[in-house]
Amino acid sequence: MTYDLLIVGGGINGCAIAREASLLGLKVLLLERDDLAAHTSSASTKLIHGGLRYLEYYEFKLVAEALRERERLVKAAPHIIHPLRFVLPHENAVRPWWMVRLGLYLYDFLGGKMTLARSRGLRKGDAAFVAPLKAASKGFVYSDAFVDDSRLTVLNAMDAAANGADIRVGVALDSARRDEAVWQAYLSDGSSVAARGMVNAAGPWVSQLLGRLGVNAASGVRLVKGSHIVVPRLYDGDHAYILQQPDRRIVFAIPYQDGFTEIGTTDVPVDAPEDAVIDQDEIAYLCEAANRHFTRQITPADVTSTWSGVRPLYDDGASEAKAVTRDYVLELDTNGPTLLSIFGGKITTARHLAEEALEKLATPMGFSAYPVTRARAFPGGAIPAFPQYVAQVCATWPFLGAARAERMAHAYGSMLPDMLQDVKSAEDLGQDLGGGVSEVEARWLRTREWARSAEDVLSRRSKIGLHLSETERSAFEAAWDALA
Ligand SMILES: Cc1cc2nc3c(=O)[nH]c(=O)nc-3n(C[C@H](O)[C@H](O)[C@H](O)COP(=O)(O)OP(=O)(O)OC[C@H]3O[C@@H](n4cnc5c(N)ncnc54)[C@H](O)[C@@H]3O)c2cc1C
Repeated sequence: MTYDLLIVGGGINGCAIAREASLLGLKVLLLERDDLAAHTSSASTKLIHGGLRYLEYYEFKLVAEALRERERLVKAAPHIIHPLRFVLPHENAVRPWWMVRLGLYLYDFLGGKMTLARSRGLRKGDAAFVAPLKAASKGFVYSDAFVDDSRLTVLNAMDAAANGADIRVGVALDSARRDEAVWQAYLSDGSSVAARGMVNAAGPWVSQLLGRLGVNAASGVRLVKGSHIVVPRLYDGDHAYILQQPDRRIVFAIPYQDGFTEIGTTDVPVDAPEDAVIDQDEIAYLCEAANRHFTRQITPADVTSTWSGVRPLYDDGASEAKAVTRDYVLELDTNGPTLLSIFGGKITTARHLAEEALEKLATPMGFSAYPVTRARAFPGGAIPAFPQYVAQVCATWPFLGAARAERMAHAYGSMLPDMLQDVKSAEDLGQDLGGGVSEVEARWLRTREWARSAEDVLSRRSKIGLHLSETERSAFEAAWDALA
């Protein structure tokens, strides 16, 4: 069989393009050599945002487009995306009051008709927002949203598969050559496939892959590492902070899982995608960034976990890492069977990027592209308001227990009745592998969500690993491996 489209890379961009293409009726094959979202797409700050600070670089188009997507995503995946209030303490020495106020007006304005709460100044009644801070009675409050980035990636792949896409995880594209009207591609499992068009969505490996295909790209990629630290909860409340730093960078502090705060990020140019490992200087920088603002002080010893990712930014020749454009560039090569390469992008704008990618491919490949995902719910996203849904889940499967019911309602949303269709009692859930992951859930993750290892489950399909001791983690791994 000849595929219409071979997509290389199972990060957010590859999976979003697979979803869009399969909904347009194309025969799609997606290859991911590691796990879905194994790299940059599980290492983001996890915000669905316009990117307030990009306004300083006059990236109005990017911000407006991202804010439009924010509105769509909050509606399409309410189980894994929720609105988040941000507190921005005022720092006159870094940015004058009028500049921040103007920026926030613009941020609300560019968002158009929005359901999230608009920005405002800090008020007297905002004691919970001010209490954790060393000194800030002045400041602002505005909205963005929080996303489980790796789950959004998997949900894109699931929707693509439901529409006929062939998703192969753990399989790399080793090499490919143009053979008259098709790409002949050779895969790491020894097989070969033919496809009329190819998408290079290899993220930080985009240029390496082009080299492997023998294609000279007009564009380059600039690799910029960003790291996060996780510490025990720094403050009470569901809100986040955007903290201005003396170097004019901003650092986020965001409630993470139950009982933790994530702090990030950094901007460190690196030479290779494999350099996505946090270093001691980044840990010290992030601790200082938080200590500058919060009463509760932290040291590197408080860090319970970290993650780092490499931004595959389009190389626009800008000098400083923090100023390189966050917008994406799609490069089309029609010297034979079509090749489209993706440079840059954001979790927030992946759906929009996918729509544009299909528009670009349509003419050279001879199919019609039209919007198919703008108002489409993600798998599990067909739920009413979230708190009511949790109550419904607790009432339908009382033996799950409140904490597990809430976790599963978030992770699977309206897919739960499908997963639990044969489950009438706690016994039917089977063995608990650890952290409340039952045999039934583990089998679903294996057969429906391409999880192949305990790590895929503990770190990406869920973040349960954060709550397990080393012994519990080993027990989970053994139980996972023992599943037939
Ligand atoms: C620190 C940081 C914070 C960020 N914060 C945000 C945020 O808050 N909000 C937001 O919207 N965006 C954010 N981003 C941006 C966003 O995370 C990235 O733009 C996005 O994840 C890139 O996705 P991708 O699919 O291009 O790359 P990746 O997720 O890296 O996927 C590429 C995949 O290709 C695979 N691959 C490579 N070569 C091959 C091959 N030969 N065969 C098969 N597979 C191959 C790799 O294994 C990899 O999984 C952040 C990024 C970073 C680094």
